[in-house]
Amino acid sequence: MRLSFTPSTLASALLASSVLTLTLPAAAQSLDAAGFQQIETAVNALAPKMVAWRRDIHEHPELSGQEERTAKLVAAHLRHLGMEVQTGVGGTGVVGTLRGGLPGKVVALRADMDALPVEEKTGLPFASKQKAQYHGKEVPVMHACGHDAHVAMLMGAAEALAGMRARLPGTVKFIFQPAEEGAPVVPDSNGKVPSFGAKSMVEAGALKDVQAIYGLHITSNLPSGVVGYRSGPLMAGSDSLSIQIDGRGGHGSSPWMAVDPVVASSQVVLGLQTVVSRQLNISKEPAVITIGSIHGGTRYNIIPDSVEMLGTLRTFDEEMRAEAMKRIVTTAESIAASSGAKARVTFGPVAYPVTTNPAALTEASLPALRETMGGKVMIIPKVSGSEDFSEFQKVVPGFFYFLGAPQQGQDFAKAPSNHSPLFDIDEAQLPVGARSLAALAVDFLKRP
Ligand SMILES: [Zn+2]
Ligand SMILES: [Zn+2]
Repeated sequence: MRLSFTPSTLASALLASSVLTLTLPAAAQSLDAAGFQQIETAVNALAPKMVAWRRDIHEHPELSGQEERTAKLVAAHLRHLGMEVQTGVGGTGVVGTLRGGLPGKVVALRADMDALPVEEKTGLPFASKQKAQYHGKEVPVMHACGHDAHVAMLMGAAEALAGMRARLPGTVKFIFQPAEEGAPVVPDSNGKVPSFGAKSMVEAGALKDVQAIYGLHITSNLPSGVVGYRSGPLMAGSDSLSIQIDGRGGHGSSPWMAVDPVVASSQVVLGLQTVVSRQLNISKEPAVITIGSIHGGTRYNIIPDSVEMLGTLRTFDEEMRAEAMKRIVTTAESIAASSGAKARVTFGPVAYPVTTNPAALTEASLPALRETMGGKVMIIPKVSGSEDFSEFQKVVPGFFYFLGAPQQGQDFAKAPSNHSPLFDIDEAQLPVGARSLAALAVDFLKRP
């Protein structure tokens, strides 16, 4: 996932949230004080372990779908805690089940495990020197999105909750997910792209019996130790798209003898920008269409047969998402047809739904979240980045939030963002994240 807060939107959100905090009634304490205290004590004692796990995972990052070592580490830890452990769930996914001593509901906590094809430039003593295969090429690999921290935090939350198992009223499932960043997907012989990430874990039954799921994302672009959330759409739905423009090749000196797909594709790129600005009702929700890649041709004086473009659509509303897709197809096909070319639009393989926090679960979870965060909880603007946590939310109510953790001494407004080769975190926030996850799970189980 990638955030796109700007300092100004964030400043206004901070202002709004401080006003909000002042005017809110005292939060109802749904998790008793002793419960919070016990989680906090346990998690704080685990802080050095979480730092060690995070550094180990950071030094050994694995690309999406290749999280073998990380999964092994996680599974061994969960087994050591006495949990039932399933491995190979939807790829390299791991699910640990902690059955409490008292009967009750089932809640899940999720961490994603994968890293990115980024060359680390942090200069940290435990910086990654790993390389891996990505689309047939050797690439450097880095935990540039903080998923190393997510794994360490969830391992910490698992250990803390395992320590209070006897008094736990229900079951907690710990879901360690592969391929959040999108697997290096290769279509099968039928041209179908197999599921990956959260979707493949859901298909493998990871959410069976689960009644709610919680997950967080660490970010360098919020103040340290502050949780950012919003009710309703939080992160955009993301659809990758490819457009093939077929013309008829010829000599660059006599374009009238050819059908030029280069000019047609240029017109399509511009035309697509009118889908959001002129064809979608943006008073409802924002949307983004970006063409990020155009390839065609081999030489300055040859008109090629075809041009291929790749792009992304970001939306915050399922109806608008469907409408935008329809309009993209019509716009591309009509513009291409006007010059005698033909456009073929295909969506996918990335197709993340909108990450939406249901109002009821959000409202019910906020008192415990505020309590465990000492009130450092704020409403943030919508994020045009995407998360496949949304695949879990399609199946059960799920609450997703951000935890600010810029590297110590760095201004969150200027800190290198997630996916940057310079991305780093404040490890002091590992126990804070673990505490918030554990508290949300226990609070959910205790709530009537
Ligand atoms: Zn990411
Ligand atoms: Zn991420």
